[in-house]
Amino acid sequence: MTTAVNAPTPAERAKALLADGRSLIGGDRVPGTAETRTHVDPATGTALAEIALAGPGEIEAAVAAARAAFPGWRRTAPGARRDTLRRIADALEAHTDELAALVTLEIGQPFRAARAGVGGAVEWFRYYAGWADKLEGIVAPVAPGSVLDYTIPEPYGVVAAIIPWNGPVISLALKVAPALAAGNCVVLKPSELAPFSSLRAGALALEAGLPPGVLNVVPGAAAAGDALCRHPQVGKISFTGGGATARAVVTAAAEEHTPVVLELGGKSASLVFADADVASVGKLAAILGLAQNSGQGCFLPTRLLVERSVYDAVIERVVATAQGIRLGDPFDPGTSMGPVVSEEASARIVGTVERAVREGAGRLCTGGRRAGGDLARGFFVEPTVVADADPTAPLAREEIFGPVLAVLPFDGEEEAVALANGTRYGLAGYVWTNDLRRAHRVAGALEAGYVSVNGMAPLPPAAPFGGWNASGHGQEGGRAGIEEFLRTKNVHVSLR
Ligand code: NAD
Repeated sequence: MTTAVNAPTPAERAKALLADGRSLIGGDRVPGTAETRTHVDPATGTALAEIALAGPGEIEAAVAAARAAFPGWRRTAPGARRDTLRRIADALEAHTDELAALVTLEIGQPFRAARAGVGGAVEWFRYYAGWADKLEGIVAPVAPGSVLDYTIPEPYGVVAAIIPWNGPVISLALKVAPALAAGNCVVLKPSELAPFSSLRAGALALEAGLPPGVLNVVPGAAAAGDALCRHPQVGKISFTGGGATARAVVTAAAEEHTPVVLELGGKSASLVFADADVASVGKLAAILGLAQNSGQGCFLPTRLLVERSVYDAVIERVVATAQGIRLGDPFDPGTSMGPVVSEEASARIVGTVERAVREGAGRLCTGGRRAGGDLARGFFVEPTVVADADPTAPLAREEIFGPVLAVLPFDGEEEAVALANGTRYGLAGYVWTNDLRRAHRVAGALEAGYVSVNGMAPLPPAAPFGGWNASGHGQEGGRAGIEEFLRTKNVHVSLR
């Protein structure tokens, strides 16, 4: 009984792990040599840890460690690679609470949602473990009898995986699992805002039997990311983050012509037609667009386009739902929405809404402020609904990355699709209708890489996911996701 009382909670265990922010390079923990960053708990505003970030020197060492580990990992029998990835999945699963608590302390995501994120990562590792021993080439019909022409899918060698802070464990899995399954070694650069969960996942992978150097975790900021993208021994870069950073990544990568996958932001639209089940759609749209990760998700439906005949009814439901979202301590199971990631993020989000309302770009229905009372010390922003949003204004066109839903009316399918396609992004689209033919017609017409009808898919590993236009290019998930980490070698054998 006493052991149960004294057993540390996941939050306590995670807090102890915040003390060590050293890089994981070649199986060793290496102190950072760049600037020191104070990690602040987004839910309380209190400083939790100091981390000496990694710089270009640690990147150099990590690439060298990955390079050194590559021949061994590439020669590892595919079945053994598969088993190692499965063991990593098991280790992540066994440490779900601890990893989830780290994510909660890093970004303020409610613990329940963070646990689901770790569960998702486990699934991605299991899924790609299954690909490790199924990678086949082809025999090309060049000149049967006189030529044997075949292909071998080959790993790139050292792969750079650069991930954002907003879902750190799942983002890691989306890149690291397929890259390793394909036989690459990885240098993972997590965001400086959320380095601890990646470091813990890397340590667990080592404990699960991944050879040292096959996965290196280097928690640095822009200078480390830049050095990684410029490195001549990095064969491929997989980047997830914002558009401005992506420009810097592509520019740095251009020096060595290193190929890049870009998974960027979005301003995805929900299209609600009058024949949809409006009562539940209004509720869902608000929950998906606002409460999930406090609106800090690349593919969340942050624009709500509603057919005019049901416009007022949907807004009423959405506002009521937004006002019912419970903000609070992210470790409290009753909390449905946590803070946003930082003080700066909260100021930016509130400022964007204030400016839009002041300039007549929309009508504020609820929210629009930093939460007060007990929550004032943390970075909580009220769930915000802005109706009659001007489709040409930034509020309705640019990613806000906070709990802000822009609502617009439309008349007819054609206008709905034109509005949905009216931004430079092309990440996701959501269609709400009970008309089967319309559902497929609209899904086909949307300029987006990922479309959901009457719901939202929770990033299943078997389904390819990726953006169009300013939302990036390349795929994560499914066969397409592992092919990003393979290049083709063609062998032409003369038989005469
Ligand atoms: P960010 O662009 O600020 O940072 C992303 C990563 O890039 C971090 O690890 C950061 O340290 C690193 N970085 C910064 N400067 C760099 C440089 N010069 N060279 C190389 N790396 C550098 O993005 P963020 O704020 O961490 O994440 C939010 C953004 O990510 C949003 O735009 C969101 O939509 C996007 N996102 C996209 C997806 C997707 O799958 N499409 C998923 C999650 C997040």
